[in-house]
Amino acid sequence: MRTHTRIVSFDPCPEDPHRPVATPIYQTATFDQESAAGFGRYDYSRSGNPTREVLERHLAKLEGGLRSFAFASGLAALAATARLLKPGDEILACDDLYGGTYRLFSRILSERGISVRYADLTDLSATEAAIGPSTKLVHIEPLSNPLLRVFDVRALAEIAHRHGALLSADATSLSPYLIRPLDLGADIVIQSATKHLCGHSDVTAGVLTVRDQVLAERIYFIQNGEGAVLGPFDAFLLLRGIKTLGVRLDRQQQTALRVAQALAALPGVHRVRFPGLEGHDRAAIHAAQADGPGTLVCFETGDFETSLRLVEALKLFNITVSFGGVNSSASLPCRMSHASIPAPVRAARALPEDLVRLSIGLEDAEDLVEDLGAALALAVQHPPKNAEMKSLRSSGSTTSSALKSALEHGGAVLK
Ligand SMILES: *Cc1c(COP(=O)(O)O)cnc(C)c1O
Repeated sequence: MRTHTRIVSFDPCPEDPHRPVATPIYQTATFDQESAAGFGRYDYSRSGNPTREVLERHLAKLEGGLRSFAFASGLAALAATARLLKPGDEILACDDLYGGTYRLFSRILSERGISVRYADLTDLSATEAAIGPSTKLVHIEPLSNPLLRVFDVRALAEIAHRHGALLSADATSLSPYLIRPLDLGADIVIQSATKHLCGHSDVTAGVLTVRDQVLAERIYFIQNGEGAVLGPFDAFLLLRGIKTLGVRLDRQQQTALRVAQALAALPGVHRVRFPGLEGHDRAAIHAAQADGPGTLVCFETGDFETSLRLVEALKLFNITVSFGGVNSSASLPCRMSHASIPAPVRAARALPEDLVRLSIGLEDAEDLVEDLGAALALAVQHPPKNAEMKSLRSSGSTTSSALKSALEHGGAVLK
């Protein structure tokens, strides 16, 4: 089967005599047992639920894995990965990571005696030098969030394995439609299914997939033993979202390319980051391991206040911490999704304060391009001439209530 066929072809309800074409929601906590001494196929939904199992089997196929495990969030899947380590073990991680992963690694795992070393894993000799005898896991985002840096999965898997470590890849920014890290040698692949897999911004979910039987058994033990499983209704919504993953991403990344090209031509926009643009320094490595550039476009304006005004002036982009939905959204990662990374660490990693991250949705490309052009024109006028901008100013702040609440939400959640 080819990719688009594979995405929609799965048994929605094995063994159901009525043959529904959509997977029923088994909204039940427990299952009546045939006898007190013997379990049936299912006994308790934390341990296994038919709706979740259809989802997990389908995801394992899409990832090219042996087994997938659906969790209540992407971070729950990452936390389960971290459970494979014991005190004294070390993680070597790329230095551009999702903010919540940074917080899990640096603030939660450190309290459990697991140390995390960050290095520039685009540099293979630096990786080789940073890996030590207690390194048990190398963790990357093949297309990192938010700097859209490209990490070479094959080369890093080879280095990790040579040193007796596992490679885990958080492939959220691309989804299994665009990259399958297990085929490239990774041992564990993680998705925040909240993003592209769901696609409609209405589910929080995570997926962990492995191809090794022993690892699968360990992860199942952790999933069942700690209990951060995905509920049946969310599993249903995710199955529904996945059916359109391919068509959504085809369209979204085509629009993303158009937006990236238009932004690159705008005076006042600096350093457009998009792996589908010729100027991307590692476009060749990306093309060798992924089937497309993805839907995220990042750029700088040279000035935080200008970026803030631009994001505020956009009409078609929601201001959200997330990405991968059918509606386009804009964010200022340093103040939102990555606010949990301390400012000096952000500075050391060259995470620019004025970085704008766009997630491109299903709108018409030209509408998005016009919206960005108009917002940039407003943002570079200083002091702002536009009446709306003036009223924001006179209210004593350049931060609208929408952005304010997004910032507060991000801050509160990420603290
Ligand atoms: C959003 C995100 C996560 C966390 O996933 P949640 O579903 O929000 O818990 C992890 N990694 C990356 C790259 C993300 O973008």
